Amino acid sequence: MNSHRVELVAGEVLFRESDPPDAAYLVERGRLAITAGSDQRRIAEVGAGELLGEMAVIDRSPRTATATALEPCVLLAITPEQIAERLLNTDPVVRALLEGQLRRYRQTLAQSLGQGSQIPEGEGTEALLGIDKIRLEGELRDALREGQLEARFQPLLEIRPGRVAGYEALVRWRHPRRGWISPAEFIALAEETSLILPVGDYVLELALDALMHLDDARPDQAQFVAINVSARQLLEEGLLARMLERIQRRSLDPGRIKIELTESRALDPIRVAVMMQQARLAGMKVALDDFGTGYSNLQYMHLLPFDTLKVDQAFVRNMHESTRALRIVESIVGMAHALGADVVVEGVETAVQLEQLAAMGCRYAQGWWVGKPQKLSELRHTDRPP
Ligand code: C2E
Ligand code: CA
Ligand code: CA
Repeated sequence: MNSHRVELVAGEVLFRESDPPDAAYLVERGRLAITAGSDQRRIAEVGAGELLGEMAVIDRSPRTATATALEPCVLLAITPEQIAERLLNTDPVVRALLEGQLRRYRQTLAQSLGQGSQIPEGEGTEALLGIDKIRLEGELRDALREGQLEARFQPLLEIRPGRVAGYEALVRWRHPRRGWISPAEFIALAEETSLILPVGDYVLELALDALMHLDDARPDQAQFVAINVSARQLLEEGLLARMLERIQRRSLDPGRIKIELTESRALDPIRVAVMMQQARLAGMKVALDDFGTGYSNLQYMHLLPFDTLKVDQAFVRNMHESTRALRIVESIVGMAHALGADVVVEGVETAVQLEQLAAMGCRYAQGWWVGKPQKLSELRHTDRPP
């Protein structure tokens, strides 16, 4: 439905108290009085450029006031569908803020009109979800301050010599009441806000700690540590420079930090390509993570100068039952090698899977069969696969 114009003469009523909320209006010309209560007290006046009657549309409740033209008016009607569509595309937190404001406004209005607190019941679950997010966001801020974030390190096995080549740092949140929270839950939340930036800094520090620990434990082998860097972090100016500065401050070799990037709808591939190139120029290694899922786009593969391709764990799972799945993994391994990149297959949970990967010439494997994510202090530093 399209917006349409409404013209009123002076004294004409646009809507009355308790009318259904059929539209909201943008005032293009003229002024209107908003009155409410048994005595039709004037509670507001609106003019050109202002929005009118949108509240009842948002919470789908009858009009709580009457709008009357004070002079000839021209209005643009906005349908409830138009408003609903915009709200649906809004960040849930913003939506929750709006719904909260609206409830408070209605409460104040009802009180000022001496009706007690008659608050129309909206659809509360969305608002609650948003509030929950705001709460969690605050708690994540505290967590960063109080050091409740930890990293676990999952080994990456170089299959042929049977050697642990490096580790992936995976963040965990030890929440004071909820216990361990997985990154799947809070990384997405952190990505919606700038909180992902301090989280990323924190994980980098933990990864650098790990490199120093590994040097003490295995001075003969320069193992790497991989960190996950999300799309939102890439948008930050100077991210690489800051990372590099931290690495150099500890006199560590940037080549032992591997950045894992996932293709994302939030980023254009050129940006990912530039970031990969810059990271490599700075001496760091780059992996394309979760290959084959989500937004992996073959069209842009040739632009991305990754050192390593990480095949998502969804592929390995079907390998022993489906020859087609096996052939697909084989082909991805072949493609990566043809591009001069290494391949890591993720989610290896059985000895059979590891053998299959070895047979197809896949160089690296990661997964529970090789080793679960562990605390730094628990890393075994053995070369043997289990
Ligand atoms: P990811 O980068 O794909 O990490 C691999 C995930 O698979 C990890 O989940 C790991 O624990 C799990 N995994 C490893 N081996 C196996 C296996 O054999 N079987 C099964 N079923 N699962 C396995 P986790 O730790 O829950 O991390 C989830 C995601 O959160 C990660 O997926 C990554 O995208 C993100 N993440 C983790 N840490 C960070 C971080 O520091 N920063 C950012 N931006 N994202 C992070
Ligand atoms: Ca990863
Ligand atoms: Ca992955």
